[in-house]
Amino acid sequence: MDAEAPQPSFGTFGLRGVANVDLTPQLALKIGLCMANYLGPGKTVVVGRDPRTSSAMLSMAVSSGLLSGGCNVKDVGLVTTPALSFAVKTLKADGGVMITASHNPPEWNGIKLWNGDGSGFSRTQDRVIEDMLRRGEFRRVDWSHIGRLERVEGIPDMYVEGILSRVDVDTIRRRGYRVVLDCGGGSACYSSPKLLRKLGCDLKAINCRPDGFFKQRLPEPRPENLSRLMETVRSIGADLGVAHDGDADRAAFIDEKGRYVQGDRILALICLNYLRNRPKGLIVTTVITSSVIYDVAEMVGARVVLTPVGEPYVVEKMKETGAEIGGEENVGLIVRDWVWSREGAYAVALVLELMAKEGRSLSELSESLPRYEQAKLNVRCDREVFPLIKHRVIELVKEMLPKDYDRLVTIDGVKAYYGRNWVLVRPSGTEPLFRVFAEAEDKTTLEELKRLGVKATEDAVKELTDKIKGGSNV
Ligand code: MG
Repeated sequence: MDAEAPQPSFGTFGLRGVANVDLTPQLALKIGLCMANYLGPGKTVVVGRDPRTSSAMLSMAVSSGLLSGGCNVKDVGLVTTPALSFAVKTLKADGGVMITASHNPPEWNGIKLWNGDGSGFSRTQDRVIEDMLRRGEFRRVDWSHIGRLERVEGIPDMYVEGILSRVDVDTIRRRGYRVVLDCGGGSACYSSPKLLRKLGCDLKAINCRPDGFFKQRLPEPRPENLSRLMETVRSIGADLGVAHDGDADRAAFIDEKGRYVQGDRILALICLNYLRNRPKGLIVTTVITSSVIYDVAEMVGARVVLTPVGEPYVVEKMKETGAEIGGEENVGLIVRDWVWSREGAYAVALVLELMAKEGRSLSELSESLPRYEQAKLNVRCDREVFPLIKHRVIELVKEMLPKDYDRLVTIDGVKAYYGRNWVLVRPSGTEPLFRVFAEAEDKTTLEELKRLGVKATEDAVKELTDKIKGGSNV
């Protein structure tokens, strides 16, 4: 490793850090070599990237490492993350590397590794790569076995055609929807506008030119970053507004009234559409998804399986259970027989298909589902103490919550269900704090659950912090 650069560690979404500070070309090269050593010489790896200012630099460095380790590289250029997963599968490659920091600010970047079936590396696989990096033992092949580099054009178009083959294009086209699309200057610029045009939409595209600085809006499609999109939907009387995050493995949806629709309600609507004619369906989602997913599951006779937060857990559980569909509370849709990646563009096509088939607007569809009040709060913790007490805090919270719950889920933090209402406390994966989530059918119950969750967490944090600072073990 470079003496000046600390080794960043892999998180839920691969390796992330500030470009040219944490994430240098030297490090990217070593990761390319590790990937080549992991797969073995002679294997083929697809490399793709988002439009960040550092992405071409990192993609070339990763590719050099792969070639040096004897792997062939198929460089697919600027693609979305699901299109990279699609390319790995379609080009029958043995693995993939995507250079993106998704929704993180422009100075960040990331490297995510992919398996030959188009699924992201699991935490266990990431740890193997981390160990290889730490040991610093890289095997380079001799000159005659250095890999071949090939540039592959046209993946975004093939990806769009793939999505079109999976939805009822004629039904959508007949509606002639007016759609405002905000790619945020991210990876979706080469695919989502084309998809919507082919779906017969009257398209108003904003921020649909790749922009590594994300000058028009930040890559995270949160409601506070989407005011221009919402205004445009209202001012031109559009049927739908759509915004992608930086690598377009997610989409945010604005209804025809210019209002942001919660991601878990969108996921629920997509599941409703997808599972309606498939008996004994299974939906995999994470512990922070709204109870609305259970309402929809009941409507279509499906079952819900919960996982810890993070795409790899959803994918893993879908593989294990054979579930057709899964996703996260931010939509983060995953469809089994398509690609093993979260999907932005396919989610848009499925929402349009549902609107077209039902002849209803997005607001009408969303309002047809039961309403829930939601809250999310943070309980801060001393940075040094946090790693020492985070598991014990959850155990204590579990003991402090009222015992009349219907179900207790402890796969990621602790979640207590009281009917459809629930409270969840989990340690943050990135900051020294605990997140308290609550959801209820009415505001009074929500206030009560919030109060319970926060009080239990604060009491537990205080008790254990005092113990640690007093020199005792927890
Ligand atoms: Mg993303």
